[in-house]
Amino acid sequence: MNRRPLTSLRRLKLFEAHGGVCHICEIRIHGERGEKWDVEHVIPIAMGGKDDESNMRPAHVDCHAGKSKVDARNLAKVNRQRAKHFGAWKPSGFRKMPEGYKWDWRLQRAVKEAR
Ligand SMILES: [Zn+2]
Repeated sequence: MNRRPLTSLRRLKLFEAHGGVCHICEIRIHGERGEKWDVEHVIPIAMGGKDDESNMRPAHVDCHAGKSKVDARNLAKVNRQRAKHFGAWKPSGFRKMPEGYKWDWRLQRAVKEAR
């Protein structure tokens, strides 16, 4: 995935535009105290987010690292919603699972749901 690197000025402008608040934990980023932060895509590019400032917010590096896992879950959800939206698009994985089965993306087949 190509991400255009931001210049320090653009980073600073984004930081100021959002009051220096981390968009994940919504706590002020204390950059002046050496807190590490990064410019983050609010809607990940993989989910159709734009690669421009309208989709960018400052976030703590730590929050960002924790968010990636959540994104993977959200992405699965978004893909399901998209599948519904574009009724025609029905890859095998989106077939209705038999009762007690779920689709395992890793194995690419339906597996019995563990309870
Ligand atoms: Zn944060």
